[in-house]
Amino acid sequence: MTAPFDFAAGWLQENLLLPLLYSLDLMQWEDISFGWALFAVYGAAQVAVTYAICVPLERWRPVERWPDRRAVAVDVLYTLISRIGLLPLITFVLFYKLQVALNGFLTDHGWVPPTLERLVPDLLGQQVLTFFLYVLILDFADYWRHRLSHIFAWWYALHAVHHAQRQMTFWSDDRNHLLDDIFSFCWFTCIALLIGIPPMQFPLLVLLLRLLESLSHANTRVSFGWLGERLLISPRFHRAHHAVTAAGEQSVNYGAILPWWDMLFHTADFSRDFARTGDPTAEEALASGGYLAQQWVGLRRMLRDLVGGKAVTK
Ligand SMILES: [Zn+2]
Ligand SMILES: [Zn+2]
Repeated sequence: MTAPFDFAAGWLQENLLLPLLYSLDLMQWEDISFGWALFAVYGAAQVAVTYAICVPLERWRPVERWPDRRAVAVDVLYTLISRIGLLPLITFVLFYKLQVALNGFLTDHGWVPPTLERLVPDLLGQQVLTFFLYVLILDFADYWRHRLSHIFAWWYALHAVHHAQRQMTFWSDDRNHLLDDIFSFCWFTCIALLIGIPPMQFPLLVLLLRLLESLSHANTRVSFGWLGERLLISPRFHRAHHAVTAAGEQSVNYGAILPWWDMLFHTADFSRDFARTGDPTAEEALASGGYLAQQWVGLRRMLRDLVGGKAVTK
């Protein structure tokens, strides 16, 4: 089952990663370059699975149809950069290195590295339950990261790249400013280190969560029904977060996978029905510009808000 993935990862390691590491004088990373390549291949496979699920859904019951889909193309580029490049690099390579360094430091000082099982000994041997708790904790952390990114104007300046898209599709999940991605990964990595997620499980968890997040961005009239929408975030629920009236500080439905945090902290809105998406306050370049233009305008807006000392957006 894993043989084709291993084969593709071996090929990638030999023909791309090792020559690259050699030319950059980074051969000390050689030992983990196979894992890096493997998660890049998993990332590519995940994009293929997402495509196979979401394209039929978007064709079956589209919310909107656009004669010109040029604005979607940039989101495809964001997805490829993130899923095949950044996510494997950060969730496997950097996380692995950080965890080894942290655990080494703690052991040297006579401390035991933190794990969820140490905090809750009843979880020992309960792998499925532990996995579910990892999802729960990461999703809770992501709710607050996302909510804070709407509160601070300088942070929303970056997050506006995600909200500016008027042609929202399943590709839009990865449409994030590079700096915003780095903040997210730092946030996730800190939590994952604190609860001691094993190094092979962390990238797999992120892959699974991002698959569900892609589905929630799909341009499709799909909702999970009264009960289903309260158990798992649907395209209808997340679309309300992207509504033109929900950009900036006044947004709703911040959750990524589970709607429970929105329900708990009174930010859930189950009433909005497949609204138009976009951020009318965003610069046009953020909506229809190319990748580099969006990155530049987001950065410029962030610096302006930081220097201007704006507390909240809108
Ligand atoms: Zn948002
Ligand atoms: Zn979104």
